[in-house]
Amino acid sequence: MRISNFLYSGFDFNEDEDLLKFKFKMINSILVIVAFFSTFFGTLSDLGINDIGVVHSKVNYVYGFLTFMIIFYLRASKENYHTAAIFLLLFSLMAFTSALIFVPQDEFRVIWFYLLTFVAYMLLGSFSGAVVTITSIFIIFISNYLIDLKLSEVAITSGLLGLVIGSFLSSIYTNKIADYENSLREKNVALHLLASTDGLTGIMNKRCFDEITKKDFEASQIQYKDISLILLDLDDFKKVNDNYGHKVGDQVLIYFSKIIEGMLRKSDIFARIGGEEFAIVLFETDSQGAASLAEKIRQEVEESPIECRHDVIKVTTSIGVTQNRGSDELFEDIFLRADQALYQAKEYGRNQVSVIN
Ligand code: GH3
Ligand code: MG
Ligand code: MG
Repeated sequence: MRISNFLYSGFDFNEDEDLLKFKFKMINSILVIVAFFSTFFGTLSDLGINDIGVVHSKVNYVYGFLTFMIIFYLRASKENYHTAAIFLLLFSLMAFTSALIFVPQDEFRVIWFYLLTFVAYMLLGSFSGAVVTITSIFIIFISNYLIDLKLSEVAITSGLLGLVIGSFLSSIYTNKIADYENSLREKNVALHLLASTDGLTGIMNKRCFDEITKKDFEASQIQYKDISLILLDLDDFKKVNDNYGHKVGDQVLIYFSKIIEGMLRKSDIFARIGGEEFAIVLFETDSQGAASLAEKIRQEVEESPIECRHDVIKVTTSIGVTQNRGSDELFEDIFLRADQALYQAKEYGRNQVSVIN
């Protein structure tokens, strides 16, 4: 198993899961370090090398074992991340409280609470960071009140002050990161929409159409499912531009796409794939079903002239229809057939539907 695969718990992450991917790397690294060192320190103490006392040595073994188990828990599902992080914080709080109480010879032991606060902010964000900070302060206060921690009053005061200031700064930083992440996500969504949308009509553009149909075609072929393609090309559109101007031509294209959009299901794909050329992909629909929809569209377009200023502009569309065959290897195979059918429709006099089965 490669190390990076281990640190990501064996999961693949999408582009928009970059931060989660980083968090998986961090939590797994922390878990491995904790599991190793807590067991190591427990063993050292038992060997009489670095005495942390009998109780805390046992606590270290348990802590090591529990963090080791979290590594496996995390591998079960990506969704387990939050619970895993909460468990890590809880087990750590227990272990560090044990150090606070049972290892009085370690004057520096409060430092583990600092580390934990920072880890909480990093792994789970502001709220958890604040909760761990308050809990840590509470634990240090109560322990010091109930038993003698062998820490001077000055040490306790500066320790707690450091904890609060560290927590405050971490909180500011974490919030800023969260803001960046949110705005990045929003920008990505907007960018993706922009990159996949046709600027004039607002429907899917050719780039997105090519990308999506490739995947959908492959899935349909594997599952032996019907998938149909309808290609539409406005008739004599050059004349519309010549007679009424390019701007009016644009309005006609928008109007045309709205008419068709209103006749489709949500699951259908509808894209502008050229100047006045459009494509519709219908899932689990054979060429007969596609041809009947194509005919309805043809009629609707013919019967819906567009009123523009003082003109009433009539447009018609020629349509080519086909569906997948078992022998098709690429989406281009269907596309070429539909294009051939469209060419036939033009040849036979335009304003008609032609089907190649
Ligand atoms: P056919 O019936 O054979 O399809 O004839 P046609 O005139 O529609 O076909 P042709 O391919 O010769 O011309 C297409 C025209 O579509 C030419 C071009 O000016 C126009 N066109 C392409 N994109 C746009 C666009 O975005 N806006 C406008 N207004 N016109 C466009
Ligand atoms: Mg054309
Ligand atoms: Mg045309």
